[in-house]
Amino acid sequence: MPSVYEATHEYAVAQDQVDTLFPFRERFLFPQHNGENVVYFCGNSLGLQPKSVEYLMNKELRDWAKYGVEGHFQAGYPWFSYHSIFNERLSKIVGAKKDEVVAMNALTVNLHLLMMSFYRPSGKRYKILMEAGAFPSDQYAMESQVRMHGYDPEDAIIEITPQAGKHTIEDIDIINGIKVAGDSLAVVMIGGVNYYSGQFFDLEQITKAAHSVGAYCGFDLAHAVGNVPLQLHEWNVDFACWCTYKYLNSGPGAVGGAYVHERHGNDPTLPRLAGWWGNEEKTRFQMKKGFIPQKGAGSWQMSNAPVFNMVAHNASLDLFDKAGLDNLREKSIHLTGYMEFLLRQITHLSFEIITPSIPEKRGCQLSMLFDNNGRKVFDTLTEQGVVADWREPNVIRIAPVPMYNSYEDCYRLYNILMSIEL
Ligand SMILES: *Cc1c(COP(=O)(O)O)cnc(C)c1O
Repeated sequence: MPSVYEATHEYAVAQDQVDTLFPFRERFLFPQHNGENVVYFCGNSLGLQPKSVEYLMNKELRDWAKYGVEGHFQAGYPWFSYHSIFNERLSKIVGAKKDEVVAMNALTVNLHLLMMSFYRPSGKRYKILMEAGAFPSDQYAMESQVRMHGYDPEDAIIEITPQAGKHTIEDIDIINGIKVAGDSLAVVMIGGVNYYSGQFFDLEQITKAAHSVGAYCGFDLAHAVGNVPLQLHEWNVDFACWCTYKYLNSGPGAVGGAYVHERHGNDPTLPRLAGWWGNEEKTRFQMKKGFIPQKGAGSWQMSNAPVFNMVAHNASLDLFDKAGLDNLREKSIHLTGYMEFLLRQITHLSFEIITPSIPEKRGCQLSMLFDNNGRKVFDTLTEQGVVADWREPNVIRIAPVPMYNSYEDCYRLYNILMSIEL
């Protein structure tokens, strides 16, 4: 397949014409630059707005005006059970059972709530293993979790670093790290797709290794959800959480998500922080003492659903359903492969693609590490109407997302890069 790629505008346009997902581009709003759509490669940071959001948001506002409190039962999507309209679609996206997922809170909050249940250090089993250079929020979360239990992060957090001279971490290094840590390990917590390099880890093998030493295994799927195929249930993952404003296009600060394997979700003896919305529905409104967790991940909910923060999530998940996850992944592999092919034609700029080139080891993001002048290249792209993403010290991340990016977008980026003189 990759051998037939061509670095021409005609080729790119022809690919768009045969792309069955191309029409989905029309369902999103693109920021404008000089009266034209920008080339938007930042879906890994904030996904674009589905056009249907405005209508759905207004509908919710009208229901509130029309029904007041009765909207909990009378609204088009009754607010009482609003959170549950996501389960079926989310469960497909992360490869789980319907009751194993829940839309709630935000990512870092969910990470803490799940750690409250799964990080219960005792005796010599008190360590957390994670990848070095994890997203700062995850680092802060783990640091504060170990402090909360009276441990020193320097001692209680094990970080796996890339081998000398490399930019990505081999799965085997994580697995060996887990084995070395052995029964000192309480939890393994890894970002499923690394936000910086775009590397997709082998979640199944990492889970297996964690379980073999008696540790729980959880993943932050911020950059994985809606981007790479996931089978959390089958892989036996204990817990996971994600945000929905990146590849899931659900809007800034939108509701997050969480997954808990049913063997834990259906175990009422597993400690969790409780609120009324996690209680079983039958007895929730009896206003009595004694928390009875509902079955599944829903029992980690505390508060009633933030409806206005979930409207775009509803709109976006519909588009994932319509496009089909297999179709999206198939296009993603081909589209990112094309972008990579084009970038490799560029020899006058000094950069290296640090994202793995094997499709199974990445999603759609490519990270370009520059020797120097990276910032200048980035600023030129911005001036020319390309929205990419700059990460200190010298990385430009671009994410051709299969839902709304085109082959022509990739070609336009290539064309601009070709014209840059430093
Ligand atoms: C985007 C991202 C976050 C952001 O956390 P919020 O709680 O949604 O603000 C956290 N962790 C990772 C790995 C991310 O990629």
